[in-house]
Amino acid sequence: MKNSITLDDSSFGFYLILHDDGRDLIIESDAYYCGLAMTFGWSPCAKCRRSCKGASDGTISCDRRTAEKHIATAQEYLDAHIGKRVADPGYFKLISYPCNPDLIRALYTLAYEHHSGQWSRGYRLLCRVKRYAKRHQIDIDSETRTSRRLYMKIAARYGDKL
Ligand SMILES: [Zn+2]
Repeated sequence: MKNSITLDDSSFGFYLILHDDGRDLIIESDAYYCGLAMTFGWSPCAKCRRSCKGASDGTISCDRRTAEKHIATAQEYLDAHIGKRVADPGYFKLISYPCNPDLIRALYTLAYEHHSGQWSRGYRLLCRVKRYAKRHQIDIDSETRTSRRLYMKIAARYGDKL
């Protein structure tokens, strides 16, 4: 799975970052704008004079510019780079699916459509898949083209055995 983020603007004047896997995150405090802009390639002192050596006191302020000035520049940079995609330096915690989510969706549909009553194998499978999906935040109610294709394959083979 890819692990990149794309910069987007939320319609409320904040920034939104979208992870490749569909998760998103709103960055709504300007305290984070400089860090966010740096993630997308901005460098705080790029436009300071050459004598500027960057912040030395742990903040974003430098000899040439105040933190406010830097934040404003960061914001200009972000506004000009909506749509840019970079590797995620850690905004999102990686979710690793021990199993392909489309396979889980397919198994859910299989168990749901083919189980033969509350005491059947299929029903036990249904419960197990549901629990698994919940634990791994897999939306099993939505089908994808891949999950549909997988479903048809496994239904042809196991549909009457549940
Ligand atoms: Zn500077």
